[in-house]
Amino acid sequence: MFARHFFFFLPLLILSCALAACAPRTSRPTIDPKQTADEVLIQKELVARDYAERERRLHRVAAPLLMRNADLCGDKVKGFTGLYVAQRDAFEDEWRSSVSKIYGLDGRIHVVEVLPDTPAERVGVRVGDVVLALDGTELTQNRKGLYRFQEAMEDQADKGAFSLTLERDGARQEVRVTPVPACDYPVVFEGKEEVNAYATGTHILITKGMVRFCGKDDELAVAMAHELAHNTMGHIDAQAANRMAGTAVDAVFAVLGVRTNRAFTRLGDGAFSQEFEHEADYVGQYYAARAGFDISVAGEFWRRMAVDSPEAITESYTHPTTPERYVALEAARAEIERKKALGEPLVPEMKPSPSPAEPAKAETKKKR
Ligand SMILES: [Zn+2]
Repeated sequence: MFARHFFFFLPLLILSCALAACAPRTSRPTIDPKQTADEVLIQKELVARDYAERERRLHRVAAPLLMRNADLCGDKVKGFTGLYVAQRDAFEDEWRSSVSKIYGLDGRIHVVEVLPDTPAERVGVRVGDVVLALDGTELTQNRKGLYRFQEAMEDQADKGAFSLTLERDGARQEVRVTPVPACDYPVVFEGKEEVNAYATGTHILITKGMVRFCGKDDELAVAMAHELAHNTMGHIDAQAANRMAGTAVDAVFAVLGVRTNRAFTRLGDGAFSQEFEHEADYVGQYYAARAGFDISVAGEFWRRMAVDSPEAITESYTHPTTPERYVALEAARAEIERKKALGEPLVPEMKPSPSPAEPAKAETKKKR
């Protein structure tokens, strides 16, 4: 019995002796736990402030991109106000007090962001205003009231103008907000550190790491415009359809007893992926230029991406980081600059739609 215990504890004994040999040997000043607790709050507030600033930057860049390309987004358009609101209890317990401090939240529904050059800014809505009513209907000043208001304001923004009753410096005032059309592909901020961006078909996701990577707003606009183009050009649905077609072929072979190891699914997945990438670059250049951004940064931006994160920006198919991409981006820029100089409309050049009466001709065009 003793022997068994001895052999069990012997390694632990050796380990503790070894660790003791490596333990720190200085005698440092005693730390006040209260000071440590205060420092936790300070650091949390810094993290929350950093997060909020990056998210605000993302919204500032996204707004002109979505507003000024509304006429190219087909029926995927919604009413946009440029107004963001928050309520203290909508934040997780861990962050509630830090975020409340940053935005000055007191339990009521507060305006926390008003984007420049948007309908909300034009009628004088300010950060810090408390929203009391929408079209005369008083809001419940709690978390549920916030959600109900956000939903109602979105609905109303699609229909047309609406009034907001605000409280500022203790006084009530009313403003009438007239939303403008914007592409209905909301840009979502993801708190991840990786440098990445995605198009989902309905949304655009940009990571915190990507916001940091883009030193200039113009670069952030280029990344966002590329993803917007994936959505508007239907690449996500097309890729899913190609993948399904491949899966169907794999299934046929499986029935015949031939193992394909999903080769056709992978083939379908990759079909046109490079072309889709080039198309997203080309159309994205137009979107960014139309929103007033400097698109001359695009080539250098994708070069830096290639160096820094060769694996980054995937929507499950690869982005070309080839010299061809750089040259193509510069060619698109030259086309846009030429149109600007001639006062021509800034719209991407599209292939003529195939005429049902002349299928053979359309096929030849596609191959070229
Ligand atoms: Zn892409």
